[in-house]
Amino acid sequence: DWVDVGDAVRDAVERCGKTHPGRVTRISLAPDLRFIRGDQDLLAQVIFNLADNAHKYADEGEVAIHARNEGDQVVISVTDEGPGIKPVDLERVFEKFYRGGGTDRRKAGTGLGLSICRGLVQAMGGTIEAQSPAIRRRGTRMVVRLPAAELPEEA
Ligand code: ATP
Ligand code: MG
Repeated sequence: DWVDVGDAVRDAVERCGKTHPGRVTRISLAPDLRFIRGDQDLLAQVIFNLADNAHKYADEGEVAIHARNEGDQVVISVTDEGPGIKPVDLERVFEKFYRGGGTDRRKAGTGLGLSICRGLVQAMGGTIEAQSPAIRRRGTRMVVRLPAAELPEEA
């Protein structure tokens, strides 16, 4: 299917509002955002998982979701103002059952969310990576890149 990324983002943010009432999730979507090939519900699931983590591990602050075109890709980012992820853990967070130490253990979770996200994004032909400055408490950004789709010609 051709997926409207904006619709998937709005769907995820709506769910996020129910899971994290009172928290702010900002959306900014490029006006000329291209479609991708995949499944809208699964893409919304990925974005929801990232935004859910963002609110869960950041005790305060806003979460910002951006989507824009970059070359032949659509880039979706989810940025929080939380504790960040240590450089050594930036890849490990995508492992099955990996959970951070310290205070993260006090939040409910199985450690499967991000490994599922990576599987779904890869199935749609894309990549996902975690970025976080080495300085603590400077937040986390999760970046999803998906190939932009060519829309079929109108008959
Ligand atoms: P689940 O999503 O299965 O309920 P989970 O949130 O622990 O459980 P993942 O979503 O896979 O599992 O995340 C793995 C670990 O990565 C988390 O336990 C946490 O330590 C770290 N992490 C994920 N997102 C963030 C974030 N935005 N800020 C800080 N740490 C994060
Ligand atoms: Mg999670």
